[in-house]
Amino acid sequence: MPCALCDDTGWKTVDVDGISRVTRCDCWRSRTSSSLMDEARIPRRYAHCELDNFDIHTDSQRAAFRSGTRLVESFPIVDRGLLFYGDAGVGKTHLAVALLKALIRRAGARAVFYETRELLKLVRDTYNSGTEATEMEVLRPAIEADLLVLDDLGAEKKSEWVDETIGMVVNARYNERRVTIFTTNLDDSANTEPTSFAYHLGLRTRSRLLEMCEWLRIEGVDTRELGPQPSAEAVARWQERSPASPKNRRSGGLPGKSGGQARAQLRGRERDGKADLKWPGGRAGSR
Ligand SMILES: [Zn+2]
Repeated sequence: MPCALCDDTGWKTVDVDGISRVTRCDCWRSRTSSSLMDEARIPRRYAHCELDNFDIHTDSQRAAFRSGTRLVESFPIVDRGLLFYGDAGVGKTHLAVALLKALIRRAGARAVFYETRELLKLVRDTYNSGTEATEMEVLRPAIEADLLVLDDLGAEKKSEWVDETIGMVVNARYNERRVTIFTTNLDDSANTEPTSFAYHLGLRTRSRLLEMCEWLRIEGVDTRELGPQPSAEAVARWQERSPASPKNRRSGGLPGKSGGQARAQLRGRERDGKADLKWPGGRAGSR
């Protein structure tokens, strides 16, 4: 059935102060935003993520939410993107996906989501014989999108090739002043820490990221431990007592000398969900 307002032309006539004007029809808007949404590559597990179901339990979650909604409201007049860093489970990816969807709906932005490891795998696959796509064809959507969400930066295994490829994407977006939202479990600790930005991405990429993004450290509560809708009291108790609370981890009794490394290893394990055996020969079939 054709649209009653525009007869499927995508343009409708409206009355503004007694003058008849032509404007985009609502049906055109919703068609456009639904096709942009289809092209945004949002993984199904994040399909439910919206701004109004983002859980705010901490000040840093509130600050990140505010900066994010400000970005959406000012788009495309935006100087810098956002970089959400912090532990797993604090809502970084949820917020990034919700902002991406809001930008599509509000501004009709061409926006794409890539998990960093997945993007690197797609590029790597182009090196196999029998694949037609070139490295650039795979990277172009990520480089040229109005908004790129690059999720879980730093979860990939470090190598010179990985550094170069990520550096190239970051640089290209920086040069074109395109808006990027990064999420990462990396921390801005000393450059000897394997989980630091400086160690994992290199000082050059770190400084690019500082220039092109507002950095927001997000601390949360572990909703896997507390359940989805914890009360304020439960949150306070958790922050005070749980060994997983940021407060207790930071003052944690790890031995002084090797403390940094031990903490880094612990964090690495948490992230992988399994112990890294640190076999000196590297992993079989390593990426
Ligand atoms: Zn219409």
